[in-house]
Amino acid sequence: MTSHNHGQHHGDRHGGHHVPENPHSHGHGHVDEDMLSVEEAYQRIMASFRTLEAEEKPLLECIGQVLAEDIHSPLALPPLANSGMDGYALRQADIAGASKETPSNLAVIGIVAAGQMPDKEVQAGTAIRIMTGAPVPGGADTVVPFEETDEVERKRDGKPLDHVAIFADMPLGCNVRPAGEDVSIGTLVLEKGTVVRAAEVGVLASLGLDKVKVIRRPVVAVLATGDELENTGTALTGGKIYDSNSFSVAASIVASGGVPRLLGIARDNLEDLNGKLEATAGADLVVTSAGVSKGDYDIVKDVLNQRGEMNFWSVRMRPAKPLAFGHLSGGAGKDIPLMGLPGNPVSAMVAFEMFARPAIRTMLGKTRLPRPLVEGTLTAPIFNEDGRRVYARVEVEFIDGDYRATPTGPQGSNILTSMSRANGLAVCPEDERRKDAGDRVQIIMLDWNEEVLV
Ligand code: AMP
Ligand code: MG
Repeated sequence: MTSHNHGQHHGDRHGGHHVPENPHSHGHGHVDEDMLSVEEAYQRIMASFRTLEAEEKPLLECIGQVLAEDIHSPLALPPLANSGMDGYALRQADIAGASKETPSNLAVIGIVAAGQMPDKEVQAGTAIRIMTGAPVPGGADTVVPFEETDEVERKRDGKPLDHVAIFADMPLGCNVRPAGEDVSIGTLVLEKGTVVRAAEVGVLASLGLDKVKVIRRPVVAVLATGDELENTGTALTGGKIYDSNSFSVAASIVASGGVPRLLGIARDNLEDLNGKLEATAGADLVVTSAGVSKGDYDIVKDVLNQRGEMNFWSVRMRPAKPLAFGHLSGGAGKDIPLMGLPGNPVSAMVAFEMFARPAIRTMLGKTRLPRPLVEGTLTAPIFNEDGRRVYARVEVEFIDGDYRATPTGPQGSNILTSMSRANGLAVCPEDERRKDAGDRVQIIMLDWNEEVLV
């Protein structure tokens, strides 16, 4: 699944120097030539991910997963011709020209309910009382609903139901649902690659299947790094902050269809980091946060470099410029891809959104990787200070046929509440200084109303 040395090869293509380590790549207010474009970073990362293997599971456990097999129908649906109404199964020839004034009188020779097999055939001049979903008896070709007969009057007058008067001439085949109308035997009903939703669960059940093969969910290990971090649920001591990245990242993993494995907080020392990284064994992806930007104390970088092969990048985007990507050596060709997200809470989430979510969806076998993109109108300006692509947190509303995007407040990469108020990211391209109120912008929709977690 992984491609070892991947980042290195790209480094070579770009003139042999390690892009992020160039000492001249720092600085604000000018375009940093050594930064990777979002697309380049995306491509280098995505080259390491493939669809995972299949697993067989009960239907209800497969929701949101991707079918790993073509499903051909083992039966016809419906299996037998059956009635679409409560009424009388009869021969259309017997009711030709029937009306309220000139009804057709037929002998009722039996009754068939849903789930039963008819024990008689309809002959000329006869009818069988039939319920919705019951198999249509041999000899019958049409079902006339009770409303078009004298059944209600007969019941009211206490007359036996051994005869019935039909008041309408109904077309041949009326209210008969033919065998195989929905699906005939052997039909390809659901294609490999289909995402299992409620309707697919229903279709699979209608075929009698109780298990199905789907692409398994990737296990994604989550590790926060930093001496300043404290676990939630404990008292905050001086100088510390709570670890929120583990939670926003784990929640994003769930929302992307992965299974998070929380490894907790690694302190900025060799022993602790190495110890925590042991627990990544068997994961399909490791996502760390913090300790990967240029100014950072090098411990995280050192350890990751020792345990595998890492690339430390600056991506031409704001937030989330620093990004690490590589592989932890797992031995026996079992390298685990590792993505080092920046530490700032909004940067971690935006980098996850741009790079980890598509990687997880690829492992899940999904083919539609990006979020829905809409074009809309800004209601307040967004600024681009230094030639990076800006992803501004915005609240998107659909008003008068247009998507209106309103920045959710201060755009600092530490302001996590403004991420909470946002349902989209409005884009200001690298080469534009600003987007003003009234300007049209591309908006990445993070939430589409009440998004289901799939
Ligand atoms: P770093 O990348 O280590 O320089 O971290 C950048 C910023 O993100 C610092 O202000 C950190 O305190 C903060 N930060 C790092 N990790 C976390 C975390 N797990 N939860 C919340 N904030 C964090
Ligand atoms: Mg740190």
